Amino acid sequence: MDWPVAPHVAPASTNALSPFPLSNPRDFSWVFGVMPIQSLFLSRSLHRLRFSFPKLSTSSSSMSSARHKPRLRGLVFDMDGTLTIPVIDFPSMYRSILGSDEYSRLRKENPAGIDILGLIDGWPEPDRRRAYQVIADHEKIGLDRLQIMPGAVELCGFLDSKRLRRGLITRNVQEAVDLFHRRFGITFSPALSREFRPYKPDPAPLLHICSNWNIQPNEVMMVGDSVKDDIVCGKRAGAFTCLLDQTGRYNSPEYNTEDLRPDFKVSRLDDIFPLLEDNFDLVP
Ligand SMILES: [Mg+2]
Repeated sequence: MDWPVAPHVAPASTNALSPFPLSNPRDFSWVFGVMPIQSLFLSRSLHRLRFSFPKLSTSSSSMSSARHKPRLRGLVFDMDGTLTIPVIDFPSMYRSILGSDEYSRLRKENPAGIDILGLIDGWPEPDRRRAYQVIADHEKIGLDRLQIMPGAVELCGFLDSKRLRRGLITRNVQEAVDLFHRRFGITFSPALSREFRPYKPDPAPLLHICSNWNIQPNEVMMVGDSVKDDIVCGKRAGAFTCLLDQTGRYNSPEYNTEDLRPDFKVSRLDDIFPLLEDNFDLVP
């Protein structure tokens, strides 16, 4: 279960995990003389890169010659809402599990989103079993309607052309990951589902993938549509982070905090190609 927003199922404003606007986007592309690519090169990565080329010049020629890009060797993707179009009606599922009143109360207390899996894990066994059955029922509907996100196949082709690794971390179940691989003919490895504990936003799954690849977390980018799960996971692991925000739902000052702010933000997967080529040394 990956808890994405389902924009064609319910308005973002009604989704428990939807109120995630990234606020006051600061486009640092001028620093590197790149064209607007709908990416946000935010404070942490800017800080990193300033170490790489401390004497930034306004001259494009001297800038390009002096520019040392950070190395990127692999990308790790969230699945639901990032590689696939979200189809699960999360508000409905949350209400079924929590009841309408409790759901409303928890939404107010947790504007960044309710960690329903973490909540359920603290419940007595009969209640937990019932809740997981509700989740399984909604996930089954999601599997039946699973669709690939536009640009995902092309992005994988681009990564293959650069011989970059690609992994996957989802809070959905392994069955959903297996179906994704079978249905769309593209594979991610390692691909960790919620059977891997602890799950996102804990950095453990991302660190596990880095260890499996034998590369450092700061040579990896975490890409996902959830600030609460994907961006926080990536930042805790020390990886670069890229938020896929198709609807601008994160454009709010309350999410412009250091712990939630991604290094990059795109509105479509297609925007990741130029982002990678402009800002990184892509190394197999
Ligand atoms: Mg997601």
